[in-house]
Amino acid sequence: MQIYRLPALSDNYIFLLHDAKRNIAAVVDPGEPYPVLRQLRQLGAELVAIFNTHHHGDHVGANADLLREFPYAIVYGGAEDRGRIPGQTVFLRGGDRVTFSDRSGEVLFVPGHTHGHIAYYFAAERSSDPGDLFCGDTLFSGGCGRLREGTPAQMVDSLTQFRVLPDNTRVWCAHEYTLSNLKFAVTIEPSNLNLQSRFAEVWAMRERSEATIPSTIEIEKQTNPFLRWDVRAIQDAVNSRDAVQTFAALRKQRDLFLAIVFSR
Ligand code: ZN
Ligand code: FE
Repeated sequence: MQIYRLPALSDNYIFLLHDAKRNIAAVVDPGEPYPVLRQLRQLGAELVAIFNTHHHGDHVGANADLLREFPYAIVYGGAEDRGRIPGQTVFLRGGDRVTFSDRSGEVLFVPGHTHGHIAYYFAAERSSDPGDLFCGDTLFSGGCGRLREGTPAQMVDSLTQFRVLPDNTRVWCAHEYTLSNLKFAVTIEPSNLNLQSRFAEVWAMRERSEATIPSTIEIEKQTNPFLRWDVRAIQDAVNSRDAVQTFAALRKQRDLFLAIVFSR
C-alpha cells in the first residue's frame, strides 16, 4: 500500500492510500475534491473508501463530490458523528476494525477536538515496518487540536492512546501546523535538546516549502509538549503536578499564544 500526501485548502493534507495490485484507492479526510480526483486520474485508480476522522468541513467537504464520481465508495466515520458527515454509511466505535488493501486498521475513539472524533491506526504488516496513524485534528506535530467540543481530561485520554503506539509509527496529521506549534513549544520547554533540533530541522524544511508530515510517535513523545504532561520541566512551566491540569494549562496558553500571533 502506497500513501500519497495531497496538500489541500490552505494548510490541510488529504491522504490517499493506493493498492496498486487491485488498483483501488481510499482517502482520509478529503476537504477538497480536486487534489483527490487529480491523483486518482493519474493512478487510474477507483476510489472505494473515504475514511473521515471528524465532521469539520475541511475534512469532509469533498465527500459529496467524490461520491458523485464514485457512487460505490464506502464512507466511514465515528458513530457519534451520525448526521454530521455527508454520505456516511459506516458508524464506527473505538475498537472496531476497518480494512483497506492488505491492511487492517483499528479505530480509536479520541474525543476532545470534537466529541465524535476518531482515529485510524493501521499496524504494520511486518513487525519491522512502521504502522500508520491517521489522527485528524487530535494530534499535530508539535501540538494538538483545539478543544472545540471536549474537555482536557478527554483529550489527555485520547492522546494517551497515541502515546502507547510503537515509536516508529508514522503520524499523518491533517494540518501543516508544525512550525507554529514548535514556536510555542520552545517557549514552554527551552532546555529540551530534542525539541531544539526538531525546531531547527522543521524551520529549514519550511524554508524549502517541504512537508513536515508524517512525523513519528517517537518524535512527538520527545518534542510535543501536549504529550509531555508528566515531564517535570513542562509541569514547572505551568506550575502544576497533575497531568490533566498541566495539559489544560498548556492548551490555554497555546490558545492565547495563537491570539497574540494572529492579532499582529
Ligand atoms: Zn477539525
Ligand atoms: Fe481541521
